[in-house]
Parts: sequence; C-alpha cells; structure tokens
Amino acid sequence: MAEEQSPTEASSKTVTLRIAKSNPEHDSASQFAEFKVPYERWTTVLDAILDVKKHMDHSVAVRYSCRQASCGSCGMKINGRPGLACFTKISELNSDVVTVEPMNNYPIVRDLVVDLEGMFSTHKKMKPFIINEESEVTANTKEFLQTPEQVEEYIQFSNCIKCGLCNSACPTMATDSSFLGPQALTQAYRYVADNRDKGKNERLKIIDESHGIWRCHFAGSCSQVCPKGVDPAMGIQMLRGYLLGFKK
Ligand code: SF4
Repeated sequence: MAEEQSPTEASSKTVTLRIAKSNPEHDSASQFAEFKVPYERWTTVLDAILDVKKHMDHSVAVRYSCRQASCGSCGMKINGRPGLACFTKISELNSDVVTVEPMNNYPIVRDLVVDLEGMFSTHKKMKPFIINEESEVTANTKEFLQTPEQVEEYIQFSNCIKCGLCNSACPTMATDSSFLGPQALTQAYRYVADNRDKGKNERLKIIDESHGIWRCHFAGSCSQVCPKGVDPAMGIQMLRGYLLGFKK
C-alpha cells in the first residue's frame, strides 16, 4: 500500500510505521499499510499508532487502555518481538522502519487485536486466589502476618498484568495450542509458593497433565519479553521442584 504522511508533523524525525491489517472474516493473510509518522524521543509505538488512527486511517484496530504498562492491553509484535506498545519508545528501536503485528499464538480478531479469552480461561483454571478455610472474614479474623522471606517466595510473580506476551513468545505454544502456557503456570506457582495458601495439591494435579508443565522445554523466551520483571521460566522450574519432591 502507498505510504501516507501525518498532517501533524511537528518533529524533524519521522519513522515509517508498517501496520499489519487483516480481518479473518474476509482475508486469509495480513497486508501491511505504511505510514510516515513524526516522533520525538518520548513517542511510544502506541502514540504513533494512535496518530495514524486519528489522522490517516481510523480503521486501524488496536486495543489499549492505561497507556502506562499497567493494564496489559496493548501487547503486539514490534519489529518481530512481543512488547507493550505503550512501553516501547520509537527512539529506542533504532530503526527507520517499525513493523507492528498481532501477537503470535492467539486468534486474530482484527489488525493488531487478538483474542485473549483462551489465556484468561486457562488462568482461571489455576484457581488464582488464596485457598484457605480461614480466608472467610469473620469477627475473629486476625492479620495473617508473613515474614519478608515468605513474601519474597512469590512477590515477583504477583506482578503479572496478564498481557499475554510470554505466551506469544513461547515456542511450545506455537506447536501445541492446548499447552497451559507460561502465564498460567506462573500464576499457579504464585499461589503454590504463598504460605497462606492451602491449594498446592489441587493446582499440582491440574498442571501435571499431557499439555501441562512437562511440555515446557525451557526456551526462556517468556522471561525475556515480560514487561513486569516476572520470570515465568523460573516459576515453571520451581513448580517442577514441587512435583519432583525437591520442594515441599
Ligand atoms: S508473566 Fe509477564 S509477560 Fe506473561 S502475562 Fe504476566 S506480565 Fe505479561
């Protein structure tokens, strides 16, 4: 498609933004539309997409919300690597051309928007809440104090914003769409490792199945792309420790 230029150009620097466009109801493959977009040092990929949407092609489909790497909505492939569009600056990509595509390993809804329903339903299967008969609040409820060491066991894993980037980077998910995936396995670990929780055996049973934890072959790409500093590959290894009896 011909390259269009933003009328709001105020910066001397411009980047060519290539946006994958497709509607699975009509198209068998994506086409790329190209736009010339001005940017400053702080312009994010999401800013550039929204500039295109406002001034050049309002049909571009993109999902976003918080614009501060908290909601996890704007995950996409940016120059081939899964990332949050609101958390990726054009200036840091060091490229005259930025290509944005929908995340791998999810069904495409349209353009840059993928269907995350499968990830959320697998996440729910992990029972992502504290299981403890004492978790009902009553008149006798007291604080459940934890030591810093006990908190350290799970705290990084509670930073997951469910953006789905780790599942998108996972080579096992690319070949086995039934694989539970790093996002869900990490959340299983987050609760198993919490000493307030009593649901360890339930969760270990859920993950110890044919499309479960043993399908991970430890590529580690999930941990490389996580925007919140979660290390899903480590969480998966720690969970295996419980199943193999190294951890109690
Ligand atoms: S573990 Fe990281 S990459 Fe995976 S869904 Fe959570 S925040 Fe996103």
